Amino acid sequence: MRTSLVAGNWKMNGSRAQIQLLVQDLQSNLAQLSSDIECLVCPPSIYIDQVSQALKSSIIQIGGQNCSEIAIAAFTGEISPAMLRDFGCNYVIIGHSERRLLLGETDDVIAAKFRVAQGAGLKPILCVGETKEQMQSGQSFLVVARQLQTVLTEVGINAFANAVVAYEPVWAIGTGLTATPEQAQNMHQQIREKFSNLSLDIAAKLRIIYGGSVTSGNARALFEQQDIDGGLIGGASLKARDFSDICHAAKSSMASL
Ligand code: PEP
Repeated sequence: MRTSLVAGNWKMNGSRAQIQLLVQDLQSNLAQLSSDIECLVCPPSIYIDQVSQALKSSIIQIGGQNCSEIAIAAFTGEISPAMLRDFGCNYVIIGHSERRLLLGETDDVIAAKFRVAQGAGLKPILCVGETKEQMQSGQSFLVVARQLQTVLTEVGINAFANAVVAYEPVWAIGTGLTATPEQAQNMHQQIREKFSNLSLDIAAKLRIIYGGSVTSGNARALFEQQDIDGGLIGGASLKARDFSDICHAAKSSMASL
């Protein structure tokens, strides 16, 4: 059985005061959550230390939203994976579509980030997903397979024993247009099959999480699907109650699988 992961991507939101309140509320809402699901928050990097201090004795883990593709270098403004580790991060989001599309991150850069992040002891959460136009022209899996393949070629299948794939259709991110549970399951199944061709064992254990307008209302139906192992949550992760409800939905959907 795969352990579900629910990760909150706070993006560029919050202030010290807001984050203090959010973390307090998360801790009280998630106090009853058992340790058989993983719950993670990814704050803006400047607030990671604040969150890490506040969550010291909590089951809520911390991740980065991005890291440098170079382990150590003169690279103004960048944050290395080792720095994220140093401040208590276990995970890092790699290849979010906002970085691919708005900042021009290529598959090659993303593959390099994946490699150096793992080298520093972080578990990459590799985001893949197609745009609306690509979906409408029937290319969804082609696009996702290409994004995965570049990383597979760079790091090899064994690296995925310690990583997570997040399927995030770009058309569903922040739009309120969630993929239906069947649509998402269909893609997750195809992703797992791609990995199965390389290693049955790694494919069976690989967590593939879904992201794109997940709410407390639709989470359970998504998480009940065979190949959906949790979620990457944007907007709803900024409200403690909603995020906690999504974490609890992951817990209860495990029971129904
Ligand atoms: C995201 O940005 O990764 C995301 C899934 O956002 P939202 O949940 O707001 O669609």
